[in-house]
Amino acid sequence: MKSDSDPSRATWYEATANRGHSRPGLSGTVEAEVCVIGGGLAGLTTALELARRGRSVALLESHRLAGAASGRNGGFVSNGFAEGMDKVAGRVGLEAARALYRLSQFGTEFVRREIADSDPTIRMGDGWLGAIRYDNAAEKQAGIAAMARDYGQELQFLDVADVRRLLDTARYFQGSFDPSAFHMHPLRYALMIAAKSEAAGALIFENTRAQSVEKASTGWMVSTPGGALRCRDVVYCVSAIDRAIHRPVGRAILPVATYVAVTEPLVQDAIRTRNAISDSRRAGNYYRLVDEGRLLWGGAITTRVSEPLRLASRLQRDMVSVYPQLGNPRIDFAWSGIMGYARHFMPLIGTDGQGQWWATAFGGHGMNTTAMGGILISRAIAARDDEYRRFLPFAPDWTGGPLGRVAVQLGYWQMQLRDRLDEARARRKAA
Ligand SMILES: Cc1cc2nc3c(=O)[nH]c(=O)nc-3n(C[C@H](O)[C@H](O)[C@H](O)COP(=O)(O)OP(=O)(O)OC[C@H]3O[C@@H](n4cnc5c(N)ncnc54)[C@H](O)[C@@H]3O)c2cc1C
Repeated sequence: MKSDSDPSRATWYEATANRGHSRPGLSGTVEAEVCVIGGGLAGLTTALELARRGRSVALLESHRLAGAASGRNGGFVSNGFAEGMDKVAGRVGLEAARALYRLSQFGTEFVRREIADSDPTIRMGDGWLGAIRYDNAAEKQAGIAAMARDYGQELQFLDVADVRRLLDTARYFQGSFDPSAFHMHPLRYALMIAAKSEAAGALIFENTRAQSVEKASTGWMVSTPGGALRCRDVVYCVSAIDRAIHRPVGRAILPVATYVAVTEPLVQDAIRTRNAISDSRRAGNYYRLVDEGRLLWGGAITTRVSEPLRLASRLQRDMVSVYPQLGNPRIDFAWSGIMGYARHFMPLIGTDGQGQWWATAFGGHGMNTTAMGGILISRAIAARDDEYRRFLPFAPDWTGGPLGRVAVQLGYWQMQLRDRLDEARARRKAA
C-alpha cells in the first residue's frame, strides 16, 4: 500500500479500467456547432446525445476524461436526486416533483440501457439496501409508503432480522431494499460513453482546459492553451472544479469532498450481499463488495477539498466501527472526490438564452442525473425541446462565497451530531 500522504495514489477504478489511448489536446482553431466543456459524465452524456442527434460537437476536458467525481465515485445508480423528494415537493408542489422524479428515473434507465449492450464488466451488482442506525420500523415503513404513493417507487421493507441476516452488525436496525437500483464501475462506464460519443462523430480533446469563453459574431469563441474552438452553443459541465469559467453558475456551486477506501480482498462473513449498501446517517456510509471480495467503503463529507491526512486509517476505523469482526483490513486504495452542490441541493440545468447552457451541480446523486441532464440539454439544443425548464425553479442562487462554505460545513457537523444523538437514543431504548 502506498502511504496515506502519497498524492499519486491511484483509485481502485483507475487500477481496474483500461483507459486505452490518450486523446490529443486541441491545437489550432476548430469549429463545431456545440462545444461541451468538461469531460465528466454530464459532459460526456451531453456530447453523446448531441452527436446521436446529428450535431457536430467537440468536448474539452482539462485533464483526463472522468478523472474527477465521475470516475471515482461509489458507483450506485438509483432514481432521485441529492435532495430528498419531500423537500423537492415542498418547493415545487407534488405534481412538479413527480415530473422531476420521472426524469430522474429516465436517467437511471438510460444508464441501464447503455450498459446492457456494452462491456459486461461495467455492471457490478443489483439492488440497494438502505439500513437505519436506530430502531424505528414505523418511520421506515412510512417513508416506503410515501415513495410508493407519491412517486410509484417500489421499495421493500426489511425488518431487523432481515437486515442482520445480510449485514451482521448490531449497528443496523430496519432497512429498505430498492430493486430498481444497481451498481457499476463508473470509470469503465464513462470511458464507454466516450467511445460511443466518438463513434457517433463527437470530437474529444483531453488535457485541454477551456480558459475563457467570449461572444463572437455568430456564437462563441472558447480559448484553450493550444488553440480555440468556434461554436454556436456552449455547454458548461465543469461541476465545482472551475467556478470561474462561467461566473453566473460558478458562484452558485459549492465544492464538497467525500472519501472512498478499498480494502484488500477479504475473507469475511459480515457482509453477505453483493447489493449496494448505505446507512441512514445524514453524512452516511455507502459501500459494497467488489470483484475479489474487496470492500469499497465511502463516507464522510466536508467542504475541505484537500485530502485529510490519514484518510485510509480514518475510513478503516469507520468500517471497523460498523463491522468489528473485519479486524484490521488492509486498505489498498483511498481517495477523495469533489462533488458540486447548489444551495438547494438540486441540479442546475438551464440556459441564458444566448447559446450558453449548463448541466451541473449533481451533488452526491449524479450517476442517473448527469445522464438525465445531458439528455435534456442535448434535446433542447438539437430539437428545441423545453423539458429542461422543469428545473427553472432551482435557479443558480449565489452560495454565499467563503461564508456560505463555512455555513455548509457547520451544517454537516450539525448533521453528524444529530446522527450520533439519534443513535445514542436508540441504544438507550434498546438497553
Ligand atoms: C467519492 C464520490 C462518491 C460518489 N458516489 C456516488 C454514487 O454512488 N452514486 C451517485 O449517483 N453519485 C455519486 N457521486 C456523485 C457523482 O459522482 C457526481 O455527481 C457526478 O459524477 C458529477 O459529474 P459531472 O460531470 O457533473 O462532474 P465531474 O465528474 O466533476 O466532471 C467535471 C469535469 O470538468 C472538467 N473541467 C473543469 N473545468 C474545466 C475547464 N475549464 N475546461 C475543461 N474541462 C474542465 C474536470 O476536469 C472534470 O473532469 C459521488 C461523488 C464522489 C466524489
